[in-house]
Amino acid sequence: MINRWLVFAACLLAGLVLGWAIAAKDGWLPGLVLGSFVWLIFDSLYIARLLRWLREEQSNETPIGATGVAPVMRGVWGEVADRTRRILRSRDRQYQESQSRLDELLAALQASPNGVVLLDAQGRIEWCNQTASQHFGFDAKRDVLQHIANLVRDPAFTAYLASEQFSQDVVIPGSFSTPARPVKLSVHVHAYGKGRKLLLSRDITAVELAEAMRRDFVANVSHEIRTPLTVLSGFIETLQTLPLKEPERSRYLSLMAQQSLRMQTLVNDLLTLSRLEGSPAPGANEWMTTSALFAQCEQEARALSGVITAQGHQLSFELGTPCELAGVQTEVYSAMSNLVTNAVRYTPEGGQVLVSWQLLDDGRGEFVVKDSGPGIAPEHLPRLTERFYRIDRSRSRETGGTGLGLAIVKHVAQRHGAELHIESQPGHGSRFSIIFPAARVRQT
Ligand code: ADP
Repeated sequence: MINRWLVFAACLLAGLVLGWAIAAKDGWLPGLVLGSFVWLIFDSLYIARLLRWLREEQSNETPIGATGVAPVMRGVWGEVADRTRRILRSRDRQYQESQSRLDELLAALQASPNGVVLLDAQGRIEWCNQTASQHFGFDAKRDVLQHIANLVRDPAFTAYLASEQFSQDVVIPGSFSTPARPVKLSVHVHAYGKGRKLLLSRDITAVELAEAMRRDFVANVSHEIRTPLTVLSGFIETLQTLPLKEPERSRYLSLMAQQSLRMQTLVNDLLTLSRLEGSPAPGANEWMTTSALFAQCEQEARALSGVITAQGHQLSFELGTPCELAGVQTEVYSAMSNLVTNAVRYTPEGGQVLVSWQLLDDGRGEFVVKDSGPGIAPEHLPRLTERFYRIDRSRSRETGGTGLGLAIVKHVAQRHGAELHIESQPGHGSRFSIIFPAARVRQT
C-alpha cells in the first residue's frame, strides 16, 4: 500500500516539476492535476487488465482459475490478481474433488444389483441406474425429469406412491413381464431431504418361484402321506369295530402293511433327496465296480418283476467293458436302481428291459436302461425330473412309486458331473441314460 502512495506522490511531484518548468508559478496546479491524471490512467489500465482476465476466466468452458494465467502486475493490483487466482484455484480443486466424489457415488449406485431411482419433491426422475432402467423400462437419459407415475402405471404402485405410506414395499410386475415369463419386482420408496424420494427395486422372481415351489412341495408331501394314512386308519377302525374272520383279517393286515411300506418308501426318498441337496459334492477317491452295481440292480429288478407280474419280463444285463466309477456308491446305486426299477414297473408283463454299460470313445462311461414299455409323450419329457411329477399316477402308486425317483437320479447325476438323457416316444419304449465324465471312469 505504501508503494501505491509513493507512486502517487511521485506522479504528483513529476507533474508539479513539469508545470513549474513550463509555466513557473502558474504551472504548479495544472502540473499537479496532470500528475494525478497520469497516475489515474495507469491505475485504470491495471484495473482494466485485471477485469479482462477475470472476464476471460468466467467465460472459459473449463472451471474458473483452472487454466487462466493471471496478468503480471506489480503493486496492489498485482496482489489482488494473485490472491484472486489462488482463491479460484482452491475453489476449482474443491469443485473437482466433490465432482469426482459424486461420480464415484453414482458409479457405486450404478453397480448396485438393485434398481435405484432418485426422485425430486414433485416425484420426477432425477437419476436412475441401469438396473432400474431394465426393471421399469426407463431410458436413463430421455426420461429424466419425467414424473414416475406417468412411466410406471401399475395400479398397485400408483396407490402406494399416492398413499405416502412407505413402511412396506409393494410387489409389481416388471416391465418385461409376460404370462409365459413373469417378472416380479419388489419396490420400496424411502423419503429423504425436503420431499425427495429414493426408490429401490429388487427382482424377486426367483424368490417367489422358490417360495411357490416350497408351497407345492409341502402340499405334495402332505397329500402323499395323507392318502396311505387315511387308508390305514380306515382299516384300523374296521379291525377295531367289526368281528372279522381270519382270512379277511389277514387280507386287511396285508393291505395295511402295503400302505405303511408306501409311507416308509416316501419318507426314505424324501430323506435321500434332502441328503443329496445338503451334502457337499462327492470326491473322486472312492471307486466302485460297475459289475457290483450291475449285480445289485439285476437282483432287485428280477425280484420286483416277480412281485408285480405273474409272467415277469425279459430282462437282460450287458456289462460291456468292466470299469470302475468314482463317487458315492450308495448314491450311484440309488440312481441306477431307480432307472432299472422304473423300466420294470412301467413295462407291461412280458416286455423287454435291457440294461447296459459302455465305455465311450472319449473316455466317458454310459449307463443305459432301455425298455419296450408305453413310452412317454414329448410334452412330459422336460418335467419328468420334477419332484412328484407323474404321467401315470395310478401305475406309479400301484407299483410303489413315490414320484421322486427321477428327481433323485437327476440330483445324483449332477453331483457326479454326469448327464441324464431321456429319449422316448409313445408306443416305442423309453431310453434313459446317465453319462459319467471321463474323470470319474476308469477301465479295470
Ligand atoms: P415314480 O415314482 O412315479 O415312478 P419317477 O420320478 O421315478 O416317479 O418317474 C416320474 C414319472 O415318469 C413316472 O410317474 C412315470 O409316469 C414316468 N416314467 C418314468 N420311467 C418311465 C419308463 N421307463 N417308462 C414310462 N414312463 C416312465
